[in-house]
Amino acid sequence: MILDRLSVLEISVFSMVSKVISSYTMDYISTLAWKNKMITKSFHYITRMSDQCSIIAHYKALGLLFKRCTLLLPTKDRLKFIFSKFSQVPCFMLEQCTTADCIGFSCYGVFLQTLIAGWDELECNRVFSFLCNLTNLPRKIEAVVAGKPGVSWYQELQLRLFCRRVLLDPWPQSQDSAFWLTQILKPWPMVSQARLLFIFYGPLLPDSTLGWQDLVGRELPHCALWDLARAILVLHSNLEVQDWTTNTMVSILEELTVIPQMWHVENVARLLVLCGSSLCYSVLASKAVNGRLHEISKVIVYIILVCEKDGFHMNWAAKIVLKLCQIFKTTAEKFLFIHTVEDMLSEITMELYELATVGELGLLPRMSFLFQKGVQFPCDISFIVI
Ligand SMILES: [Zn+2]
Repeated sequence: MILDRLSVLEISVFSMVSKVISSYTMDYISTLAWKNKMITKSFHYITRMSDQCSIIAHYKALGLLFKRCTLLLPTKDRLKFIFSKFSQVPCFMLEQCTTADCIGFSCYGVFLQTLIAGWDELECNRVFSFLCNLTNLPRKIEAVVAGKPGVSWYQELQLRLFCRRVLLDPWPQSQDSAFWLTQILKPWPMVSQARLLFIFYGPLLPDSTLGWQDLVGRELPHCALWDLARAILVLHSNLEVQDWTTNTMVSILEELTVIPQMWHVENVARLLVLCGSSLCYSVLASKAVNGRLHEISKVIVYIILVCEKDGFHMNWAAKIVLKLCQIFKTTAEKFLFIHTVEDMLSEITMELYELATVGELGLLPRMSFLFQKGVQFPCDISFIVI
């Protein structure tokens, strides 16, 4: 048979010759023999990068083949045909494979991305609904967000791996990632959306479980928070397309930074710095409007500390404070704001100094910085704004 002699890519091109050929190709790739040879590959213990790349390339080719040979079918029939061939592979299914280094989800993601690249939004909506029914994704999300963080650690990790590798990471364009992230998050209330963002993008512990308590108990470096910040930026930069308002993003950030309890303030400040000036300002402004001066001052002081530690220019923090000053209408209100920041700077500097003197000598270089800036920074601001 001629098809036996062709590569997957060649079959995909051949299938587009005519309606008869495409139907013949569909019959051919529906045989168990073809499926066993082409779809069911081993996804485990593939340590060599070149082997991983060749399997990924194979699934990309399969994506093209299924895209091309089903070209003439309505979307619903297309999806039914395609996923009937893939849904029984354990390494493509949630909670079915326990091998740590399995690359099944990555292959499935590349296949799906190749298959639906260029499809319009309505068709992609259908794909998502179809996948939800096939994988029971909503029920699995519900079970995880209903429990306490970290209790269902295996299910959390499976959700993270499936959603990241199959639906979110294969897309090179941020608007595509935003579309899929929106599909996953939108059906849920804001508190669950924040929980899901943490599950998908939160920092992992060395044993690969989610570091829920890490954010509460200790300061984390910016690399641990970068994925979360990037996901928030992906949603925020596609506000108009995906119907995410700035207020929604601010509320999600508020929810996120108290999961599972109030985060260490330095982690809150670092995430805000990584989210950029627009979102950082919006979060602080919403606190300012609600009169939460004490809270906002503490975050501002830690933003200053993060700027120093992570090498961001101090002007960045000063500009945010200046902009926040404009929210307060009277001079007295502006003074009160600046003095609250100033008092907080002294208070936190003393706290850190005391910590340093009882043994954490590593903090001492930071202390000298804070003492210098602590005296000058707010006074400069108050001089400018009044
Ligand atoms: Zn597997």
